[in-house]
Amino acid sequence: MNIRTRLTLLFVLLVASIVLLFTVSVYYLYDQFREQEFQQRLEEKAFTTVRLREDVGEVPRADLPVMTEEQVTIYTSLGVVLYNQDSQRPRLPVTPEFLSKVKLHQHQYTRIGDIEAIGVLHLNTRKEPLIIVASGKDRYGLSKLDRLREILFSGWLLSLVIVGIAGYLFATDALRPVAELITQVNAISANNIHERLRVGRQRDELADLARTFNDLLIRLEEAFVLQKSFVSHASHELRTPLTVMMGQIEVTRLQARSTEEYEIAFDALLDEVKSMIRLVNGLLELARASTDAVMLNYQPVRIDELLWQSQSLLVSKKPSYQIDIDFDNIPVQEEELVILGEESLLQTAFQNLMENGCKYSSNERVSVRILFERGQLKLTFSDQGYGIPETDLPHIFEPFYRSESTMTISGHGIGLALTQRIIELHQGHIQVESVVGKGTIFRITLPTTYNSSSDGTNKIGESVSAV
Ligand code: ADP
Repeated sequence: MNIRTRLTLLFVLLVASIVLLFTVSVYYLYDQFREQEFQQRLEEKAFTTVRLREDVGEVPRADLPVMTEEQVTIYTSLGVVLYNQDSQRPRLPVTPEFLSKVKLHQHQYTRIGDIEAIGVLHLNTRKEPLIIVASGKDRYGLSKLDRLREILFSGWLLSLVIVGIAGYLFATDALRPVAELITQVNAISANNIHERLRVGRQRDELADLARTFNDLLIRLEEAFVLQKSFVSHASHELRTPLTVMMGQIEVTRLQARSTEEYEIAFDALLDEVKSMIRLVNGLLELARASTDAVMLNYQPVRIDELLWQSQSLLVSKKPSYQIDIDFDNIPVQEEELVILGEESLLQTAFQNLMENGCKYSSNERVSVRILFERGQLKLTFSDQGYGIPETDLPHIFEPFYRSESTMTISGHGIGLALTQRIIELHQGHIQVESVVGKGTIFRITLPTTYNSSSDGTNKIGESVSAV
């Protein structure tokens, strides 16, 4: 059921209940009023009859208010009938209990079908108690009540129809901006993702919704553009070495070569293949690091050990690299060095930063410093290399972005994008500071599994749930 139908039904139900309550109250109150009025008339009739009988000795019919099927019966206190006004008409069959109730309360009302009756107590001139029962049918009152019931019921039905139509129009009008939003959102696809919803000048919830949609579209567009450029960059990065390799093979095949020339050609091909493997590995790691955090295998990892491992792996590949690792402060507890993480990913991140530090500095030297703060581990990777131009700094974490100033140095531009993703997966932050010609510092903050409180107790594993 759509919201418009639901709103209309709710509206009809609400108004119908209120009108019904009102209608029933009017009917009930009118019925009470009619009954009281008729009782009063019956009472007057009873006393008039008995007084006329006492004073005049007989009751002239013309003097009395005419009532349909009227009957006045006078009983002694013992229930013996003294007088019956209309002998043609059968007396109202009153019970002895009714008569005794009249004696007790002096006034009693009863109703048998349409015939209503009241019983009153009267003391005659000799101070003897008499019970007068006056009965009749309130033909006009009851027919008025019937008419009122019909009017109220048809009025209620009519109000339902009117409220139904009004509710439907009201709901349609109230939901028109939503329908417009839906049309606008439906018109946006991958081809026109730059389009935005019209917010208007209103400051209502729907304007908020449109604004939220627009924010979402901005984020989607960014991701979309990034995705597009990622695919075109990746294909470009893969095509370039393949083209180079094809050219080399074609040139080599043009004529018969000596063994040395073939060796040189194969070495060049091998370099290209290695570079491609590095790129593909980087892309695979990036894809892995872009998966959901819950898919990764988090284990307690000792950061210092991981840094030493990264250092020795890198130095074994590039012996000219100098990587110094130093502690700024010595940890009191071993747990201060432990973070919850995916070891292989963290190692990739550290290796990237160490390699960049050496690769982009003439002295091929990088210094890693470890600092412990309450529940946090801070790492800095600093070099005294070429530095990054200020205009490039906001982009260096984007996939495939490479600074123009270092284009001559081999690389694919995915190392930092991968590093940032890995650090964020571990609830950490990475920042960069750089001065061209002086050097670059990458600062990393990672939460540890250790949390020291004032009483010195350890709270290991608090951040487990946070990961
Ligand atoms: P790659 O090193 O493969 O080019 P990265 O993503 O690791 O890719 O780095 C992106 C760019 O950031 C590099 O091309 C380089 O211009 C710049 N950069 C990264 N680290 C440093 C550094 N330590 N010193 C100077 N420039 C750097």
